Amino acid sequence: MERLQKAIAHAGVASRRKAEEMIKEGKVTVNGEVVKELGVKVGSQDKVEVNGIPLQREAPVYFLLYKPRGVISSAEDDKGRTTVVDYFENVQERIYPVGRLDYDTSGLLLLTNDGEFANVLTHPKYEVDKVYIAKVKGIPTRQQIKQLERGVMLEDGKTAPAKAKLVSLDKKKQTAIVELIIHEGRNRQVRRMLDSIGHPVLKLRRERYGFLTLHGLNAGESRELTTHEVKQLR
Ligand code: URA
Repeated sequence: MERLQKAIAHAGVASRRKAEEMIKEGKVTVNGEVVKELGVKVGSQDKVEVNGIPLQREAPVYFLLYKPRGVISSAEDDKGRTTVVDYFENVQERIYPVGRLDYDTSGLLLLTNDGEFANVLTHPKYEVDKVYIAKVKGIPTRQQIKQLERGVMLEDGKTAPAKAKLVSLDKKKQTAIVELIIHEGRNRQVRRMLDSIGHPVLKLRRERYGFLTLHGLNAGESRELTTHEVKQLR
């Protein structure tokens, strides 16, 4: 049993606060009856409707995928390309990715059917560290690395303070490996940050998400999160 507003949030229909408003406004029914109080609890057998639309109520599931390059971070692709959800053919629940990795980026991606969990983790206020390993063209100077840390100006504003490190360099090939730790999640942010200092990304992998790592997984492999991990992330 869980509180009605929580059940609505878990189904990804709205945030918990918005769900509370919807309940108070009389938009929610339980087994055909309008419910306007917030204390009501519902079980998996109860039929909940929001604005007349039945709530999809599945048990929440959480997965960590080592996304390979060349895979789309969405549940469906109109061009028929492989999506991250295609790696979960045996999973019955309707899962979707928490945020995105670019088509050409590999690395750690979470998938769930818990809308509230996904909303919380992708909210800009939720400052989870994301660790990226980038192979870049050319060899960044110490000043350029410092600049990444202080913040660089992008089209959508200056980036928040970050951590950056030159991990290794290849003088012959004129490439370098840079580790970048950010907690923002703007579109193509790492690629744009490295572009802005004149060292475009050749290859990009997300290595860590908060305390979660890719440990023990190869590209294309996944595992379920433990209950403890899910609790820690919330
Ligand atoms: N930053 C990028 O540029 N690409 C990603 O996929 C993730 C972060």
